[in-house]
Amino acid sequence: MATTDTFDYAVVGAGLAGAATAWRLAQRGHHVAIVERDEPANDAGSSHGSARIFRYVYEDPFYTRMVQDSFAGWRELEAAHGGPLVTPTGCLDHGEVRGPRRLATVLDRAGLSHELLSPDEAAGRWPQFTFTTEVLWHPGAGVIDAQESVHAMVAAAVGHSATLLTGWPVASVAKSGAGYTLTSSDGRSIAARGVVVAAGGWLPGLLGGLDLPDGFLASLPRFEVRQETAFHFPYREEPAADAGWPTFIHKAHWIQVYGLAGGRDAGHRGQKVAEYNGGRVLPDASAQDGLIDPAHRARMVGYVRRHLPGLVPEPYAETTCLFTNTPNDDFVIDRADGITVLSPCSGHGAKFAPLLGELAAGLASGAGTVPDRFRTSLKVAAR
Ligand SMILES: Cc1cc2nc3c(=O)[nH]c(=O)nc-3n(C[C@H](O)[C@H](O)[C@H](O)COP(=O)(O)OP(=O)(O)OC[C@H]3O[C@@H](n4cnc5c(N)ncnc54)[C@H](O)[C@@H]3O)c2cc1C
Repeated sequence: MATTDTFDYAVVGAGLAGAATAWRLAQRGHHVAIVERDEPANDAGSSHGSARIFRYVYEDPFYTRMVQDSFAGWRELEAAHGGPLVTPTGCLDHGEVRGPRRLATVLDRAGLSHELLSPDEAAGRWPQFTFTTEVLWHPGAGVIDAQESVHAMVAAAVGHSATLLTGWPVASVAKSGAGYTLTSSDGRSIAARGVVVAAGGWLPGLLGGLDLPDGFLASLPRFEVRQETAFHFPYREEPAADAGWPTFIHKAHWIQVYGLAGGRDAGHRGQKVAEYNGGRVLPDASAQDGLIDPAHRARMVGYVRRHLPGLVPEPYAETTCLFTNTPNDDFVIDRADGITVLSPCSGHGAKFAPLLGELAAGLASGAGTVPDRFRTSLKVAAR
């Protein structure tokens, strides 16, 4: 690719966040390059595989509203894709730390359908689980096919004339004239008027190579990259089936676990079960090794034996994935000059993807605004 290739916007990273932003920018008529070091939704990032929880339940009603706001975007994307990307399953929330009764009030106020059940009532309906506290059932939840969603958004962007550059690792973004020059680690370059950086767990390592003001860099939260592990446990019942298994979040004092039908990744044979922030902290995504800690595996086997009688407590598959956490789990969608930084993870960003794309595209192009809590530079400026 010659240096003369010039775009309105270059979006760095084709995970859920970058693909969504590229889709929304291209849809608005901008000439967009999607610049990805590997392939869209690659296995080393955070958006691979067929299973992420879509749920409305949040302690903070702000995020519940965001899920409601993202719903229309999912329907729009499914229509463009020509098939479902979010499969309805419902979700169970339980455990003394999760606080089902407290969460029910958030759903109540948002007008979202739900039921609060005693442990015995819930066990009668879902004998594949063991419950020790009240249980919140909310039927509006489901499972997102993350990988297919990325591909659908990239296809939609390309359908609006975006260019996809794969195998293109951005090493630096430097001011040049009225825009920026992006240079790859092997010396190729492109130019763009504006840049959106959605590099997932690689963001901490890339920040130093971006032409960002020191004050902006100092305002960003500390990003913690974790190599998380998920285990697939087989269904006991034959023929095994995902149907009838709601997603769940169980937060007890001794462990915080979530689970969902593994879908395609797991041959539809079992549940994907994982511990929140149970993985190793890395300096950056490039330090990941994909290794699974045997002690962690044993802990999850113990959990399944105790709380998921509907599963055989022997994992038949396991995988790693990256969480990029901020200290309060808020997303970062912020901009300095022509560079927009987008880091919507903390283990819960998938469900908002179409909306995050709209927000980031609006901020990057000056056509829209972003909630102040995602703009850390504003908070620092206001001090
Ligand atoms: C195990 C796991 C479970 C999760 N469960 C849920 C859930 O149940 N519900 C939910 O809502 N969310 C969930 N999430 C969170 C959600 O998946 C993430 O918020 C989302 O995938 C983040 O996407 P991203 O685009 O920011 O990052 P990524 O998907 O990592 O995308 C970043 C992309 O940038 C590319 N890149 C990096 N550096 C460069 C560079 N220098 N040049 C070019 N390209 C570059 C990478 O190759 C990658 O493709 C989960 C995440 C994980 C890991």
